[in-house]
Amino acid sequence: MSDLKDKIKQLISINGAMSVAQYMDMALSDPQFGYYKTANPFGYQGDFTTSPEISQMFGELIGIWAVATWQNMQQPQSFVLCEMGPGRGTLMHDVLRTIKQLKPSMLKCAKIFMVETSQRLAAEQQQRLHSYLGQIEWIESFDTIPQSPLILFANELFDALPIFQYIKKDGYWRERVITLNSDNDLSFAIGADQLAASTLPQNINNLPENTILELSPIRNQLMTNISTRLNAQTGSALLIDYGAADFAFGDTLQTMHKHQFSDVFSNPGQHDITSHVDFAALQKIAKQYGCCAKIQTQGEFLVKMGLVERAGLLGANKDTVTQTKITAAVERLAAPDQMGKLFKVLCVNDQQTDFLPIFETSI
Ligand code: SAH
Repeated sequence: MSDLKDKIKQLISINGAMSVAQYMDMALSDPQFGYYKTANPFGYQGDFTTSPEISQMFGELIGIWAVATWQNMQQPQSFVLCEMGPGRGTLMHDVLRTIKQLKPSMLKCAKIFMVETSQRLAAEQQQRLHSYLGQIEWIESFDTIPQSPLILFANELFDALPIFQYIKKDGYWRERVITLNSDNDLSFAIGADQLAASTLPQNINNLPENTILELSPIRNQLMTNISTRLNAQTGSALLIDYGAADFAFGDTLQTMHKHQFSDVFSNPGQHDITSHVDFAALQKIAKQYGCCAKIQTQGEFLVKMGLVERAGLLGANKDTVTQTKITAAVERLAAPDQMGKLFKVLCVNDQQTDFLPIFETSI
């Protein structure tokens, strides 16, 4: 059993049941035992592999998106280039290399910010990005970046921000909480709190008993802050994650260890814990705060940005092993039965900034 599990059990025995949000928050960010503070999550040796770790092509195409977006913003001579939740720093590394190749003048105008809450990962990012160190600042909250036109991207950040769960019982939406069962182990229970009618999403009255609903005020707040900033300062945000583009429900809380799903209560702090992102809710917030927002599948986005052509160039004159690896990466990133369909790209722009033509056919 993990030390964090003991800590959580102790907290529950003193304070009573815990929300799913607090459990997720402790499992990921507990200062002593949290997953991002202690574990080595990424890559084939770790628990999961993210798109930028699968292939450099992912970051290169986001780099091209950033250059085209800067041009659509009339090339501001001073702007913020920001990544949130940068993991090992691979994505920013590939983005900066691409910008440097395509548009070196853009790089000179950029103040670069990495928003990262894990000091351990920030140190790894600093190592990877050592050649740009003078130009990059590391901060812990989006709110502290300076007021400036903004180009922001984040891959698999929102899925790591905590959610609350609710379950329909006797016609009411009651909070689903975590408590101790008779074996003194963690288990789900139905809490006393009910979801206030004003926070209920639309069209949920007909959902059957025992349906689970997930809501994330923390994700919504971040989307609000990003949209408000874009609306005031101009710019664009590209948010990539896995989840549904339409209203969805059900239990999507999941833990991963060594690339396998695990029991959500087995090892808090030692397994990655995430949930699906409600893209429809985020899109709605962006629009409420004055922005335009479009959603595409990751597969469609990458292919339209030139994934296949880039793979062809990267593999030209290479040995068969390398070419096979590149082909496998294209499949993994863009095939509908892999990451191409479940993963979505949400692009949020202020009213003045045009979307790239590839977003003409959004979901
Ligand atoms: N984008 C990376 C890593 C995804 S994992 C990739 O695609 O490989 C999630 C990342 O978000 C980690 O770096 C984690 O430390 C960071 N993170 C978690 N909560 C955060 C928050 N509230 N603000 C900023 N970063 C956060």
